[in-house]
Order: sequence, then C-alpha cells, then structure tokens
Amino acid sequence: MTSALDYVRPEIAALSAYHVADATGLIKLDAMENPFGLPPDLQAELGRRLAVAALNRYPDPHGGGLKERLREAFAIPATAGVLLGNGSDEIITLICQALARPGAKLLAAEPSFVMYRMNAVFSRLDYVGVPLRPDFALDLPAMLAAIALHQPAVVFLAYPNNPTGPRYARAEVEAILAQAPGLVVVDEAYTAFADDSLMALAGEHPRLLVMRTLSKLGLAGIRLGYAAAQPQWIDQLDKVRPPYNVNVLTQVAAVFALKHKAVFDQQALLLRQERARLAEGLAAMAGVTVFPSEANFVLARVPDAPRCFAALKAAGILIKNLHGAHPLLQHCLRFTVGTPDENSRVLSSLPACL
Ligand code: PMP
Repeated sequence: MTSALDYVRPEIAALSAYHVADATGLIKLDAMENPFGLPPDLQAELGRRLAVAALNRYPDPHGGGLKERLREAFAIPATAGVLLGNGSDEIITLICQALARPGAKLLAAEPSFVMYRMNAVFSRLDYVGVPLRPDFALDLPAMLAAIALHQPAVVFLAYPNNPTGPRYARAEVEAILAQAPGLVVVDEAYTAFADDSLMALAGEHPRLLVMRTLSKLGLAGIRLGYAAAQPQWIDQLDKVRPPYNVNVLTQVAAVFALKHKAVFDQQALLLRQERARLAEGLAAMAGVTVFPSEANFVLARVPDAPRCFAALKAAGILIKNLHGAHPLLQHCLRFTVGTPDENSRVLSSLPACL
C-alpha cells in the first residue's frame, strides 16, 4: 500500500500545520485582526465597485495602480522597488525560495513569527534561531555573534515583534543591518500601531527589505502584503512570484480602501488607546505580568496559562495560549486588542479565570 509518508519529505512530515482555532460563537481575540468592519456607506460603495470588476480576466500581474497607491499612502521611497504578495506570508515564501542556495541560512530572533522557521523548512534553508532576552528585548551581542558565525543569507526581524509585542531599539536593528552580509527583512506587519519604521531607508540601504501587510490595518480578509527594497532585490524576488498572486477583487478592494485610509488610521488610533487601557487593566491584576507592546495585542504572563485560556474560552473569549510554543513564553497569553466592549469583557472576565 502506498503511504504518503514514503514520498513526503521527512522534514515536512515532522511539521504540524499552522493551527487556526475555531472561533464560532466566541469573541475573537486570537489573531490580531482589526475588530471594526467598514462603515455601511463604504461597504455599499465597495460593493458597487466589486460588482463591475473584470472577473473574467486574469488580474493585472503588476497590481494595476495598486503599487502607486501604496507608495503614496505609506510613503514608500521613490528609489525602492515594490513587490506585492498574497499576504505578507507569501512574501516570506518568495524570499526564502529565491535565497535558498545550497547551505544558505535564515536567521531570526525567537520567539517570533512562526512562518519564518516554517518557510526555512519548506525551502530547505538552514534555520538559526537566536533567543530574545527574558523581557523579550533583542540580545544584540548574541545576534551579532550568530550573524558573524553563520553568515545568513537572510535575517528576519519583526518590528514590533509577534508574539511578544515590544519593538526592538532602532539602533539595534541598524547594527544588524550594518553587520549582516545578506538580506535583512524588517517585518513591519504592526506598523499601524508602532512608533517607528524603517521605511524611509528602503531603497537607500543595499540590504534592507521592509515588509508590510494590510491585514492588521483592517483588511486581513483580502490578503495583501507588500515589500519595499532596492530594485536589485525586488527584480529577483518578482521572478519567483506567481504572476497572478494578487487577485482582481483584492486589487479593487485595496485601491478603494487606500482612498479611505483615514478611516483605518482612526481605527488604529482607537486601538492604540484601547491597548493602553487593556495593558493597564491586566497589569493591575495580582499575578499578571504585562509586557510592553507596540502592536495591536498585549502579551501577559499569568500563573497558569492553559487553565486561564480554557476558563476564558468557557466565558466566551478566544485568545492565544502561547504556553509551550517556546521556552521563553512559559505561561504567556496573547490578547488581541478588540473593540472597547470586547476589551471590557476581557478585563471583567479575567479575574475569575486566573
Ligand atoms: N508578519 C508578522 C510579524 C505577523 O505577525 C503576521 C501575521 N500574524 C504576518 C507577517 C503575516 O501577515 P499576513 O500574511 O496576513 O500579511
């Protein structure tokens, strides 16, 4: 009898699939989504635009006017090339595919976004993880030593980091940029909630690629990521990109949404305020340690994370239990910032769950 395991690569067979929890009937605070939908008048207008989109045609392989709209909306330097992805997930995949020369290495601080390591495995890059400090700051000497030793083809840094929340010191990222021999991906997925960005250097620095997504801003469903770097990188990565990776509906929806970016910026501002309220409320609870965050989530350590996670779920709230995901994340829970009502529900329900 044929077994798939006789043919599937053993390192793939050894992986667990990316887990997405069932949130049916629960307040969904597990995936860093923006909790606010589009206002009804914009929904109606978007509906009209989507209705006349040319679904019979393949999408414009270059994103139509989308790249230009992104350049304007997010101040992408004119010297940088722009790459579009089916979410920034796909951009991670494209980078790994393009750089996976035999023996090439991918280096990342950890814990960080799990898809860096997953894609290293998919593309047969050797993965080097450098632990963060216990307070989730970057261990710069360890990073620089590992870079010197391993000479990675690519370094991934999430700025701010998921699942921990802090943004590393800019000077540390610049030190890594100065030392790393290959590409340095600064993943700014949470930029809407952060106080700093390296976008102004994209196109100028020869090894910097700034990667972003519209997901956290409020458009996770349309799957659009973008990257900015010197054209020498973008031109190569673009060869690996499936030609129609950003579909027609996404292109139309994204152009429309960027026209109304102020709506999303306003929501991000409110989420930042709610992040502060949530963090303060959690920190005031006995036994809870809250870590600083510049993203739209708050990481907290509790006395018994699995029990607290289960009790919150029983109370109708789905968060992310990170206990067991990495040794540094013992008894850590990640709370996505929700609507004011949802955050109040978390704060009122949690004491009984601790
Ligand atoms: N980078 C980071 C740091 C993330 O946390 C995520 C999503 N959780 C992504 C990239 C991927 O986002 P998307 O594919 O939705 O663009």
